[in-house]
Amino acid sequence: MSESTIQLYNQDSHLKTFKGVVLTCIEQTDETLASGRSYIVTLDATAFFPEGGGQPSDKGTLEDAMVLDVKEDDGIIYHTVTAPLTVGSTVTGHIDWDRRFDLMQHHTAEHIISGIIHNSYGWDNVGFHMGSDAITVDFNGSLSEEEIRIVERKANQAVYENIPIMATVPDPEELKTLNYRSKKELTGDIRIVTIPGYDSCACCAPHVALTGEIGGIKIISSQKYKGGVRISMLCGTRALLDYNKKEKSVTEISVLLSAKPDEVKDAVKTLKAENLSLKGQLVNLQNQILTYKAAFITEGSRDICIFDNEIGPNSLRTYGNLLIERITGICSIFTSTDGKEYKYLLASKVLDVRPLGKSLNETFNGKGGGSKEMVQGTVTGDADIIKKFITDFQI
Ligand SMILES: [Zn+2]
Repeated sequence: MSESTIQLYNQDSHLKTFKGVVLTCIEQTDETLASGRSYIVTLDATAFFPEGGGQPSDKGTLEDAMVLDVKEDDGIIYHTVTAPLTVGSTVTGHIDWDRRFDLMQHHTAEHIISGIIHNSYGWDNVGFHMGSDAITVDFNGSLSEEEIRIVERKANQAVYENIPIMATVPDPEELKTLNYRSKKELTGDIRIVTIPGYDSCACCAPHVALTGEIGGIKIISSQKYKGGVRISMLCGTRALLDYNKKEKSVTEISVLLSAKPDEVKDAVKTLKAENLSLKGQLVNLQNQILTYKAAFITEGSRDICIFDNEIGPNSLRTYGNLLIERITGICSIFTSTDGKEYKYLLASKVLDVRPLGKSLNETFNGKGGGSKEMVQGTVTGDADIIKKFITDFQI
């Protein structure tokens, strides 16, 4: 059986560059790469963290080979790399440090937030996802907006206190006496990560050395989730970039509304109220125009067929209802915005308009339907031809 890989990230979570001896290098087909092959490499020691504790695996390089993925199995760490490495040679590894540091900031913040919520409200962290945007943490109980802001303030207090983070592997007897959070029953050596005063949790991933390195913790949203709450948060540079993005958005809205940035909400409320009032006025004016238009139709006419592109599709029904009061047969109204496709309405107080609607749709590639008294739909064709069809149909 092979020896376990020496896990340098456990000794120093800030190790960015290291040397290791290549123990094995196995070629494999890899359809995700243009070359069609990648290599699985093991070393005597590595600073590459494999996936674990909710934290994704590291990326970086081993000599000139890119490290695409890192996995651990039975104490041995397997690096998936893009180029072969010579067995027995000493290679230099570089961790993609910006990425790793960002992950450690967020992961450590997750411990602080989970510890505070557990200690203050008794809820457990039941799900944790580190995406490329915000990270999410799920808890099995609900929190009010006010409680979430209290948690956020306490978490940032932990950052200001710049507390050293401890990682220990207690012996089984000592472990029994410790009070720590753990998502599942663990076996073998248990690594306990402690942030004094805030949290103690079983976790295998590397964390920042001091809470101050997190830079700041911002809960950006919370939502009800499976009977509990899902919190989304950002730390350090990601939180700053998010702030910049939101500030830019508010500044642009503020310019558009000619309102100060902290007054845009009231400005939008005013705008919406004005919009609603204008819509009401518009409907009134439209109805007045339709009433005037209808007055031009000779009262007592039998059938009428009107093509009027000034009538919006939304006014067809209102106009139709006004017109059928003045005629004794069928009223047909067509309106179009492009002169090709027509929205139409057929209405009558005495005749069944459905046969005309059906025939109209069949002849002019249309669709629509309705009741005996009123049919609405869409047809495509030339206005004169449609008009002739309607006239002939009624004759
Ligand atoms: Zn952790």
